Amino acid sequence: PGVPELEALQHEDVARLLPVPGAESDKYRRGVLGVVAGSARYPGAAVLAVSGALRGGAGAVRYVGPAGDAVLARHPETLVHSGRPDKAGRVQAWVVGPGLGEGPGPVVAVAEVLASDVPVLVDADGLRGLDPEVVRARRPASTLLTPHAGEAAALLGVAREEVEAGRLAAVRELAGRFGATVLLKGSTTLVCGPEGGPVRVNPTGTPWLATAGSGDVLSGLAGSLLAAGLPAVDAASAAAYLHGLAARRAAAGRGAAVGAGPVTAGEVAESLRGAW
Ligand code: AMP
Ligand code: MG
Repeated sequence: PGVPELEALQHEDVARLLPVPGAESDKYRRGVLGVVAGSARYPGAAVLAVSGALRGGAGAVRYVGPAGDAVLARHPETLVHSGRPDKAGRVQAWVVGPGLGEGPGPVVAVAEVLASDVPVLVDADGLRGLDPEVVRARRPASTLLTPHAGEAAALLGVAREEVEAGRLAAVRELAGRFGATVLLKGSTTLVCGPEGGPVRVNPTGTPWLATAGSGDVLSGLAGSLLAAGLPAVDAASAAAYLHGLAARRAAAGRGAAVGAGPVTAGEVAESLRGAW
């Protein structure tokens, strides 16, 4: 008795988690994040994941994929690589999945990244057909899965409605089955670690986040916190919290006393600095 099932994320707790570089820091200590994302069809997902990563405080971002020109046009800070993730150079964490599209290429990319010995965040197309045994086998390096309800339903082999009706059960079941930390996106975002325990609930979300590309920003942001060395549950929690705050700030507008209006995913990324 007395063990809570749910734990609302608190402002002070999240603030304490955010890595602030010390005087002796350098870009490697701040964390280098690898991002495997985007495709000829969906180059924007790569751009937005890199936006989230840079505004999440990564010391550097290595982008691997076919959307390098689009990424560089928006973020000249990015280190762009073509070819395989394992040839891109050392990283402290990977994000794989946003905008990869369907087919054998993405499956190979996910397998290569999961074979690494650093934390990995798998989102979006990277979650398609993900094998629980492959994920379990890579422990003790942590894995963070960030599905929305539809992606969670596909991973569990159930209908989307079933996940929506039992989000708490779904996030626990996924975390247990994959031996991973799971961030289940939606109107209330839930975070569950591989060992179970209380599920964290993010209170900062806003329906203005229900817009194309906002999930891609979140994956880059959470990835940058993994690269900085946060444990997966903390990286996921802090990312969800900041992402919601940033969206609220972007929706409120500069100096607006009242009211809120639509935001783009790119604006959410831009607002992360102020949210931080
Ligand atoms: P994705 O589905 O990958 O594009 O991600 C959408 C993002 O928007 C996630 O961070 C969700 O948690 C968030 N989101 C979607 N719908 C809502 C909602 N109704 N209220 C709050 N956040 C939402
Ligand atoms: Mg998504």
